[in-house]
Amino acid sequence: MDLYEYQARDLFEAHGVPVLAGIVAQTPEEAKAAAEQIGGVVVVKAQVKVGGRGKAGGVKLAKTADEAYEHAKAILGMDIKGHTVHRVMIAQGAEIAEEYYFSILLDRAERNYLAMCSKEGGVEIEQLAVDSPEKLVRYNFDPNTGIDADVAAEIATQAGFSSEEVPALVDAFQKLWGAFSAEDATLVEVNPLVKTGDGAIIALDGKVTIDENAAFRQPAHADLVDESAEDPLEAKAKENDLNYVKLDGSVGIIGNGAGLVMSTLDVVAYAGEAHNGVTPANFLDIGGGASAEVMANGLDVILGDEQVKSVFVNVFGGITSCDAVATGIVKALEILGDTATKPLVVRLDGNNVEEGRRILKEANHPLVITADTMDGGADKAAELANK
Ligand code: GDP
Ligand code: MN
Repeated sequence: MDLYEYQARDLFEAHGVPVLAGIVAQTPEEAKAAAEQIGGVVVVKAQVKVGGRGKAGGVKLAKTADEAYEHAKAILGMDIKGHTVHRVMIAQGAEIAEEYYFSILLDRAERNYLAMCSKEGGVEIEQLAVDSPEKLVRYNFDPNTGIDADVAAEIATQAGFSSEEVPALVDAFQKLWGAFSAEDATLVEVNPLVKTGDGAIIALDGKVTIDENAAFRQPAHADLVDESAEDPLEAKAKENDLNYVKLDGSVGIIGNGAGLVMSTLDVVAYAGEAHNGVTPANFLDIGGGASAEVMANGLDVILGDEQVKSVFVNVFGGITSCDAVATGIVKALEILGDTATKPLVVRLDGNNVEEGRRILKEANHPLVITADTMDGGADKAAELANK
């Protein structure tokens, strides 16, 4: 889960990372009141989970509360790279002397954590990494030690900071590591990390990604979920504990096991090339126990997607045998009744497949079409989606 900047700011503050005052507002009136409360120069910042707001006109300096009102009025409702701005953060203005870059992330390729640091912040870091990679320090560190004072000093020194500058940075890096590890984050990025006129180091813009797999030990993170921004189908799937990701195509997909579902997406996309380029509408892994209820919930979510024209159910019976899955499908269609309106191509294989196919044949449901192979099923589903 990605956090909004204001949530990242609050989280930083809770872990002692130096930040400036910031108040979130949903209306120009609230923005004005926040600017009055903070006092002095403020910055009105669009809250969207996408980078490059500054360039898109979503970050504006306001010298007075009235100006903050005007900027908020212009920024609220704005579209930034497909994201509508519903909130702004009114942030205390900083007198910036220098802008740096610092981040901590999970380095999957190295199976380790990685800290990155540059004296050239504020800019697009991806661009810097391409144009002048020597200016971006990449430092893998031992997760058991984390970023202690020595590691932090090493990172700052490698990035080219002078011995006078290092101490304040060491403190900020350690606090940011504290936030990263305590909150089970997979990314903490500060761009820019600034030095102000009086030499203080402040995290001015924060981007944080939380590892949702840690939800069981992070009850407070539930409050960070922005329900208004969630896709309604994904929200419904989450409510039912389904592993669902909405995609853009028209062939609904249900399978068991993430690996099988991933390959099903590929096979359907490939088959779709012969049928006007139709593609998968979603990823949905119903997991091991494909009970009637789970199947009904899964089908319900997929059929709720207006873009879906056909559904491909691709199940390999392992611990859950094919007859149980077939019974699940038949009962699910009973539960859904008239709400099930789209053709269902079903391919079963594996444990007790004969009995599974017999059950489907006997039920003889008008929407169900059986397929013997994964390729054949994908082709049929793609053909039906193209009708
Ligand atoms: P982003 O474009 O989404 O990364 O938004 P940022 O919060 O990083 O802001 C973009 C740029 O606006 C920063 O790099 C700064 O140059 C400038 N900026 C942001 N806040 C302030 C502030 O308080 N004072 C000043 N002078 N500039 C700011
Ligand atoms: Mn930024």
